Amino acid sequence: GSVFANVVQAPEDPILGVTVAYNKDPSPVKVNLGVGAYRTEEGKPLVLNVVRRAEQLLVNDPSRVKEYLPITGLADFNKLSAKLIFGADSPAIQENRVATVQCLSGTGSLRVGGEFLARHHHEHTIYIPQPTWGNHPKVFTLAGLSVKTYRYYDPTTRGLNFEGLLEDLSMAPHGAIVLLHACAHNPTGVDPTLDQWEQIRLLIRSKGLLPFFDSAYQGFASGNLEADAQSIRMFVADGGECLTAQSYAKNMGLYGERVGALSIVCKSADVAVRVESQLKLVIRPMYSNPPIHGASIVATILKDRKMYHEWTIELKAMADRIIRMRQQLFDALRTRGTPGDWSHIIKQIGMFTFTGLNREQVTFMTKEYHIYMTSDGRISMAGLSSKTVPHLADAIHAAVT
Ligand code: PMP
Repeated sequence: GSVFANVVQAPEDPILGVTVAYNKDPSPVKVNLGVGAYRTEEGKPLVLNVVRRAEQLLVNDPSRVKEYLPITGLADFNKLSAKLIFGADSPAIQENRVATVQCLSGTGSLRVGGEFLARHHHEHTIYIPQPTWGNHPKVFTLAGLSVKTYRYYDPTTRGLNFEGLLEDLSMAPHGAIVLLHACAHNPTGVDPTLDQWEQIRLLIRSKGLLPFFDSAYQGFASGNLEADAQSIRMFVADGGECLTAQSYAKNMGLYGERVGALSIVCKSADVAVRVESQLKLVIRPMYSNPPIHGASIVATILKDRKMYHEWTIELKAMADRIIRMRQQLFDALRTRGTPGDWSHIIKQIGMFTFTGLNREQVTFMTKEYHIYMTSDGRISMAGLSSKTVPHLADAIHAAVT
């Protein structure tokens, strides 16, 4: 018998499992609104033109070799990533107070940041929003942190539970880490206003809490890279410390290339040097050093004015298509006279709509309409097209009436 005979079957991942079920469904009308990956109007994955061009440049450059990167990744990539998220004129960058390391997309950046904090921060509790991306609690628990939640979403208003958020964070112990979605909160699509961010900042700073930003959607939410970094920049502008996990999965469509960065903004340059030295000790025994291709694509685009500009245009086109899908779905439900207030569909921000549909309604829509989505009622707007909106609206209508 196998030495692994006692290994039990693990459940599917709640998000990636949706795609597994979708792939098994032979129905021609099936729609996958589970996974958060951009699709064109034709339902196809998209490789940005500017990414194709960068890849051509890389392939045709004979000086490019496949040597190992340093433990911290591609130096150019790290500098440009920090500039992208904190802004070109950021004093933290000018004062060399930022330690940036290339990591395996957003997930890897969160994990490395989590492990660093478990080793070097005095308070091991991290507060994550309720609800949040399903991987957050697992990433931080395995990193060695102790996970607690703060109130975030109010199902009755389908908006932010701002009072609850402030109350929970004000009760957090000194030094506690606070995970914040920089923009386009996943799964709710509900973000604080700039005024609310300012109040959150004041509370976090006055209580001595440590902000850890998850930035998986910069530019993808509003179509504007600067606007989507505003929350983070408010925290960096006050001179205080914070962590940021960046992902290029969505905004450059580099999902499978696994390219991201962890930046730790420190009080001084000498602290940043020591922090970076310790990040290397976290990374080396985990995977030695990160892959070269995706980071080279990003660096090629970010350092060339024309390519950068081309990227912003393609990025805005993706964001705009998602915003159009929101409007079309909202209009389709109104046309059908579907009971309920569906204005949250056009108010929410980013890739997802948190529909408010419950588990039974989701099951019904999957069974009767072959629509695949997570059981919390989250749908990926990026997976919709003008062709599939009517089918989804029919399904929602049937599910609630
Ligand atoms: N954080 C959030 C909030 C996300 O939605 C995602 C992607 N689903 C990630 C992090 C990480 O994604 P990746 O590792 O592919 O960059």
